[in-house]
Amino acid sequence: MTDFKIEKIQARWVLDSRGNPTVECDLIADKRLERAIVPSGASTGELEALELRDGGDKFLGKHVSKAVSNVNDKIVKSLIGMDVREQNLIDKKMLELDGTDNKSNLGANAILSVSLAVAKLAARLKNEPLFSHLHQISYEKKNEDYLLPIPCCNILNGGEHAGNELAIQEFMILPIGADSFSTAIRYASEVYHILKGILSKKYGKSAINVGDEGGFAPNLSNSREALDVIIEAIEERGFTPGKEFILAMDAAASEFYENGKYLIDGNQLNEAELLEYYLDLIKEYPLKSIEDPFDEKDFGAFSELTNKVDNSIQIVDDDITVTNINILQKAINLEAGNALLLKVNQIGSLSEAINAAKMAFKNDFNVMVSHRSGETEDTFIADLAVGLCSGQIKSGAPCRSDRCAKYNQILRIEELLGENAKYPSDFKSWKKFV
Ligand code: PEP
Ligand code: MG
Repeated sequence: MTDFKIEKIQARWVLDSRGNPTVECDLIADKRLERAIVPSGASTGELEALELRDGGDKFLGKHVSKAVSNVNDKIVKSLIGMDVREQNLIDKKMLELDGTDNKSNLGANAILSVSLAVAKLAARLKNEPLFSHLHQISYEKKNEDYLLPIPCCNILNGGEHAGNELAIQEFMILPIGADSFSTAIRYASEVYHILKGILSKKYGKSAINVGDEGGFAPNLSNSREALDVIIEAIEERGFTPGKEFILAMDAAASEFYENGKYLIDGNQLNEAELLEYYLDLIKEYPLKSIEDPFDEKDFGAFSELTNKVDNSIQIVDDDITVTNINILQKAINLEAGNALLLKVNQIGSLSEAINAAKMAFKNDFNVMVSHRSGETEDTFIADLAVGLCSGQIKSGAPCRSDRCAKYNQILRIEELLGENAKYPSDFKSWKKFV
């Protein structure tokens, strides 16, 4: 008989994709081991749960030895003997032990490393795929069919993720016209490589260097120039923009907001001008999703834009809501945005992240499961996107193993599911699954 009780917890530091230390946690029950690694953001929302770093000299202040010790010395004591199938109870216990609103005592990185490993180990001991276990703990039901996510591939990087002058952080292509996930990621890879050729020819070899999320980081300074080369790449491959591919952006606008003005494309725009700028881009390009269009404190501007665009356009809340149900409720009440970006480490426990997704769906918000710009080989979010049937995932470009690991895991899931793997026809496809 399987013994689901936690026998051992062991955390350590390992390096993330930017070469910074992060927390990895091993969990053992019934002589089986599962491990999880925590990601880390660069353009973070101010109200994210606290990522505990040591300060001081090691790793230039970024060491996580305190968070590691918090797992090995404190969390371990209260969780040994607990049943790994009790995700909510385990997360609750860690939140109580921490005792703060933003997990500043133990660190969100400490808590999350354990929380994710718990789900993985439960799935393993139940002899079940992780996505299916996650579906059950999220919705308390089993499914035969699963909605695989549209890969929102960030093929051109700017903002905090690149050494160029582009204000907009992410330019994404969404292969919405594919009939399966594997075809979708193939389409995205083809366009990515065509784009490489175009950039090299137009701007020289240095234009094909890549940013933190594997997208190219050419030395452009104008968003339209970036969108134009992407459209050119889509067309050169024989696709029709708006048909096989739609476009998405993460503006991450808090990062280019200074003294009441948005510094973009060489201009200083006020809120009303930036809103017009987005509306123009939506008219000019098949741009169907804009994340963090304004400063994260400006709920009013998010509302105005959400109410000005038609239903088919997503306004995605990331830094503004930080996967926190209290803040998400405020965004829902104010109609500030119509989609939630779901980042597990913004809130710091799996149960809370799942609750945020459920609250979003209940209020007709879409959900895009997301990586961080500092990632690892951990593929948890791939199973989470499938388990939640969110219908969307962003994991960067189809390039670099920290990004591709997630897409590759979804390819494996697709193979496992066979005909039960469904691919979205639009942003609202989750409605048939959730
Ligand atoms: C984002 O802003 O959506 C993102 C993935 O970047 P980071 O992890 O740096 O917040
Ligand atoms: Mg973002």
